[in-house]
Amino acid sequence: MLVAGCDIGSTTGKVTIMADDQIIAHSIVPTEPLCEDTAHKAMSQALAQAGLAPEDVEYVVGTGYGRLVIPFAQATVTEISCHGMGAFWADPAIRTIMDIGGQDCKAIRIDEEGRVVEFAMNDKCAAGTGRFLEETARGLGVEVWDLGPISGEAQETIKLSSSCSVFAETEVMTLLNEGKDIAAIAAGINQSIASRLSALVRRVGVAEKVVISGGVSKNGGVVRGIEQRLGVSLTHVRVDAQLLGAVGAAVFAKRALAKRSRLGERRAARRAGAV
Ligand code: ADP
Repeated sequence: MLVAGCDIGSTTGKVTIMADDQIIAHSIVPTEPLCEDTAHKAMSQALAQAGLAPEDVEYVVGTGYGRLVIPFAQATVTEISCHGMGAFWADPAIRTIMDIGGQDCKAIRIDEEGRVVEFAMNDKCAAGTGRFLEETARGLGVEVWDLGPISGEAQETIKLSSSCSVFAETEVMTLLNEGKDIAAIAAGINQSIASRLSALVRRVGVAEKVVISGGVSKNGGVVRGIEQRLGVSLTHVRVDAQLLGAVGAAVFAKRALAKRSRLGERRAARRAGAV
């Protein structure tokens, strides 16, 4: 039984293909202007990795902000439920998830079956999102994936006064031109995100184990900042945490397919009984 989850976000498209509850292929691709194109690209890459044809995958669940226009998805599930389920699949002891993606961040609490019991979300502006990191990294003249390692070298943290990503980019450029240490500025950028996320997750309550999902989970500076502020060790999961939404979608696909075959069996049994 092959199923897939397809998560079309604002920055990347992600696909995971699962067989027997194991991930056999995955992809992460940058978004295209049309979500439909992102979905095709992400799915083609994952299929090629597994040596599969599209028709080999029996059920696809779509999620993410572009979920409604994924042409090959049979069903859709919200990102909140998918990140919750993906984290639960990765480690059933996880109860709190912080999903930090390109354009929003969410704090999600789940129960002992992976169901969402509480969530809070910031999707009003770029503050506290991957977009903030991308724009401030640009102001600093580095790549977004360098912010974690650079901030790891910092002897001090320069606190940013702007939470708006547009103003923060200018502030970062001003600090750089004043000769301030680049590592200290990078630490300030990461701390700005860590502080917003810690406040958001406190709104839903921090129940351990805690995990970060989404692309920002790859920024060690943000991860360390959140751990310090919350006083918890974040859980390392067995998959790339940027994929957890797509993993959750694949788990929902597996359940939908199992339900469909149970219904089919019942109908067949009823027909046989009627004969
Ligand atoms: P979305 O689902 O909204 O498209 P993602 O979960 O893919 O977003 O996260 C995208 C964000 O992740 C980027 O804005 C960037 O800040 C961050 N990111 C992605 N890759 C890396 C990396 N290798 N190192 C650090 N940060 C990263």
